Amino acid sequence: MKVPMLDLHAQYEALMPEIRRQLDKVFADHHYIMGAQVKEFETKMQDYLGIKHAIGCASGTDALVLAVKALGIGEGDEVITTPFTFFATASSIWRNHARPVFVDIDPKTFNLNPSKIEAAITPKTKAIMPVHLFGQCSDMTAIMEIAKKHNLKVIEDNAQGIGSTWNGQMSCSFGDIGTLSFFPSKNLGAMGDAGMCLTNDDELAKTLRQLRVHGEGPKYYHKCVGLNSRLDTMQAAVLLVKLEQLASWSKARRANAAFYDSHLSGIAGLITPYIDPKAQTIYNQYTLISSQRDELMQHLQKREIGCAVYYPLPLHLQQCFSEMGGKGGDMPVSEELANKVVSIPIYPELTQAMKQYVVDSIKEFYS
Ligand SMILES: *Cc1c(COP(=O)(O)O)cnc(C)c1O
Repeated sequence: MKVPMLDLHAQYEALMPEIRRQLDKVFADHHYIMGAQVKEFETKMQDYLGIKHAIGCASGTDALVLAVKALGIGEGDEVITTPFTFFATASSIWRNHARPVFVDIDPKTFNLNPSKIEAAITPKTKAIMPVHLFGQCSDMTAIMEIAKKHNLKVIEDNAQGIGSTWNGQMSCSFGDIGTLSFFPSKNLGAMGDAGMCLTNDDELAKTLRQLRVHGEGPKYYHKCVGLNSRLDTMQAAVLLVKLEQLASWSKARRANAAFYDSHLSGIAGLITPYIDPKAQTIYNQYTLISSQRDELMQHLQKREIGCAVYYPLPLHLQQCFSEMGGKGGDMPVSEELANKVVSIPIYPELTQAMKQYVVDSIKEFYS
């Protein structure tokens, strides 16, 4: 049996007739930039998340770059974030000429450790950028408390956590701006690159809408330099179709996780994902911790089971950030987990037989 890490064929099979119908409507209009589907999708997302403004853009990375820019963060400023995340989290800060300041993660949730944030705050700190890694919302109670106390902005990098909640409240709704990615492997994936900023603040929404069109307003007049970063009309049309499935997909991912949990917890040397009781995760990834990680991966690959390491090198150790002086030992939890984590297939279309095969193969490795 083969179990890929993600199966877009299975995901799209039933949806393609409707997607083709929706794309035909786009082709009928030839309105490729900011067509009607963009506004329609933004409105649907506002309703789905219960957030006042949704601003579509070209990618999750751009959503972060726009968010940092909209908050006026730039040269000489610092933003506290996690080193255990996808590169774009920190590069969005860097590209605005500000500095990412890394704070280590909680060893159980993989998210920014709130108890370590205050020690990293300096007079230059402007914002905190938590990441809701693998689909689990960060401890936003603690993070918002620290932000209020020190008068800091908060940007939620929610590329992996669409629809996840903390204390029953929707992710992306805690901070000043929340961002989403519709990269094809995210829980709501486009047929290419796409992203979005979310905010309840009217002024920030206005700024974000302006920044995604070169900082323009009125047309051909520029008060500031923005990006060319719009949500493509065709991608919006696809996402409108797929949004209808998102809640049931997240539910299926949680059911798959429950199956893995029940069969894999208790194996000596293997740790199953810890989900905080206050969080409802959407399992963009199901990530195990194993001190025999590389051998386990070889075993799974031999059995044609997809698996992947998110992420093998924490961001404070990336070559491009070397001038900030990050070194081994600075972020011990992130560095240790980078050597021990492995994610296994969790996508909604997994069959019972596939899940059983994954579980049996892991048990075989540990027996
Ligand atoms: C995917 C991802 C991004 C970037 O999104 P793109 O749409 O690929 O640009 C940013 N942050 C995190 C945590 C991600 O997982």
